[in-house]
Amino acid sequence: MPRVLTCRSAADLVAAGLAPPEALMELERVAARYAVSVTPGLGELIDPADRHDPIARQFVPDPAELDRQAEETADPIGDDANSPVEGIVHRYPDRVLLKLAHVCAVYCRFCFRREMVGPGRRRALSGAALAAAFGYIRDHREIWEVILTGGDPLILSARRLREVMGALGLVDHVKVARIHTRVPIAAPARITPTLARALKSFGKATYVVVHANHPRELTPAARAACARLIDAGIPLLSQSVLLRGVNDDPATLTALMRSLVESRIKPYYLHQGDLAPGTSHLRTTIAHGQALMRELHGRVSGLCQPAYVLDIPGGHGKSPIGPSYISSAAPAEGRFEVEDFKGGRHSYPPDAAGE
Ligand code: SF4
Repeated sequence: MPRVLTCRSAADLVAAGLAPPEALMELERVAARYAVSVTPGLGELIDPADRHDPIARQFVPDPAELDRQAEETADPIGDDANSPVEGIVHRYPDRVLLKLAHVCAVYCRFCFRREMVGPGRRRALSGAALAAAFGYIRDHREIWEVILTGGDPLILSARRLREVMGALGLVDHVKVARIHTRVPIAAPARITPTLARALKSFGKATYVVVHANHPRELTPAARAACARLIDAGIPLLSQSVLLRGVNDDPATLTALMRSLVESRIKPYYLHQGDLAPGTSHLRTTIAHGQALMRELHGRVSGLCQPAYVLDIPGGHGKSPIGPSYISSAAPAEGRFEVEDFKGGRHSYPPDAAGE
C-alpha cells in the first residue's frame, strides 16, 4: 500500500517499515540530534529488505551519525564567518546566498548545514531581517547573482516566493537568481505551474539547481516536476554529493548523470562530501572521486560531466578538484602532454614526427 505520511521521527520510520523495531532506541538518539524527514515518495523508493539501500542511506538516520571526527565542524564551509547580515552569506565578490528558511522537505543525513536546518533550529527570516538583507544586496552593486538556499527555498509558498522574486526584480545590478532545491525530487507535487511562475523575476534570469544523488530519485513524478519548471522557461542544473554506498561507483554515477540529462537537467556540480558532524561513514576519499571522474570522462557524453568540487573548509569557497588531463612537458617552449579519454598521451603541439 502506498505510504501517505511523511516520517518525522524514529517511531514513524519503524511504523512505516523503513527501520527495524530493534533499532528504535538508537535512532531516537540520532533523531534527537539531527532532524528527520522522509517524504512518502522517497520512502516508497526504499527497499527495507536491502540493508545497504542507497535511498535509505541518504535519509534514514544511522547510529554512525553520533560519531564525530576531529576534523568535522558545525559550519564546515564557513557560512557564519561570511555573513555580514542575517540571512546573507557573501563569500565571493559577485554573488551572495540568501537563506530565507531553515527547514526542508527531507533531511539528508550528510547535510553540510545539518546544525542549522530543521525544526527548532534557526528561525525563518523575519520581515525586518529580509528587509535588511535586501538593503545589503541593494548597497553592494558588485552583486550580480543572488542564490536562494537554506534550508530549501521551495518549501515556501508561491505567494512568498513571488514577493521575494519581485523584490529581486527591483535591484538593477542583480541579473541572475539561482534557487537550490531538493523539492522537485522529495515532494514533486509542490512544483505546481503557479509555483513555477512565481520563480520568474522581471528582467532577471532564473536558474533552478536540483539536488539529486541517485538515479532512482528521478521518478516519473520528479521528472514531471522538473519538466514543469523547464516548460515555464526556467533552465535546470543539478548538484549531487559524492556519497559512499550511494553513488560512488561508475555505473551509478553514469546512470545518474544520464538520467539528469535525459530530463533536460545539466549536471553542474559533483560535491566532495563536506566535513559535517557525524558524516564520515558517507564520505569517500578525494582520490576515489578523481578516479570516478576519470571513468565518467571515458564513458559518457560531455553533457553528462559535472565539475567535481570541494568547498574548502573555513569558508574559502569552492575549487574544482577533478583530475587533470594536461601536464607541462617543456614549460619554456609552451609544450604540453595531454591525456585522451582512453588514457593515451599526446604532445601538444604535436612534434614534427606527428606526436
Ligand atoms: S535538502 Fe539541502 S539543506 Fe536540506 S537537509 Fe538536504 S542537503 Fe541539507
